Amino acid sequence: MAKALFAIFGNPVSHSKSPLMHNLAFKALSIDACYNRYRLEKGETLRETFFALKLKGINITVPHKEHAYAACDVLDDFASKVGAVNTIVEKEGKLYGYNTDAPGFLKAISEFHDVRNVLFLGAGGTAQSTSVILKEAGYDVTILNRSAGRLDKYIQDGFKTATFESFKPSAYDLVINMTSAGLEDEHLPAPREILEYVIPRAKACVDVIYGKETPFLKLAKRYGKPTKDGSDMLLYQGIIAFEHFTDHQYTFDEIKSPMKKAFE
Ligand code: NDP
Repeated sequence: MAKALFAIFGNPVSHSKSPLMHNLAFKALSIDACYNRYRLEKGETLRETFFALKLKGINITVPHKEHAYAACDVLDDFASKVGAVNTIVEKEGKLYGYNTDAPGFLKAISEFHDVRNVLFLGAGGTAQSTSVILKEAGYDVTILNRSAGRLDKYIQDGFKTATFESFKPSAYDLVINMTSAGLEDEHLPAPREILEYVIPRAKACVDVIYGKETPFLKLAKRYGKPTKDGSDMLLYQGIIAFEHFTDHQYTFDEIKSPMKKAFE
């Protein structure tokens, strides 16, 4: 049988850890497969590019998750609900779409116990799918965002929302940075006075950014809070994607053991 080919599609895509993660797992599990990266300029060409490259499966990163959703023949229930796909598997000429970001994130925060009220800082694409899965899992999620425009969808979906101006100070068990503030700059994701109210009252603080300690996590540590960056979210979405790629032939822990070496 020919080697099975996989890839990550995105733009940019050069920074992605996914090729290393998946290739480590393929090698450790003796699977004849190879995972590459592909910079996709136009999201509309995702489907034809997938077939032209003779791929078996892909992950999709920014900015193509909505295009990936549109490119699929079959969507799982959750991907269908949130309108964003980050994993596609080809089966008998059809493209099956999944969202593994949100379940990966849910698993990553499950280590924090006695958490009910969660404050999201940010309302972008990542917040979209993760807020829905947390709500379904029974968390009470409030979305705080810099600009009002992005909050409309969340209001329609029944979330509590606020902008920096309308925010009424309240206590949350978990405060999560869902913004890109701190990724390539040293910005905090919300005004300091808001953070200095919610962080001391939180049980823990989480950032979806990985690979650096953001100003948000530094501030949380200064208050002595347990913190977690986005590495486990990235690892767990990759493991769940790999489960789809290999049709659930391996357990989560069998995949995790080699894949987490990408973070060492
Ligand atoms: P989007 O571009 O969709 O949304 C960005 C959000 O950040 C918006 O809510 C925006 O607010 C807010 N924002 C940006 N800059 C600032 C700032 N300086 N101050 C306050 N708010 C700000 O981004 P994504 O949802 O795609 O990505 C968000 C983060 O998640 C990124 O850092 C990305 O790296 C990370 N990520 C991590 C993953 C992982 O596996 N760990 C997976 C996917 C993403 P406004 O509406 O006002 O512009």
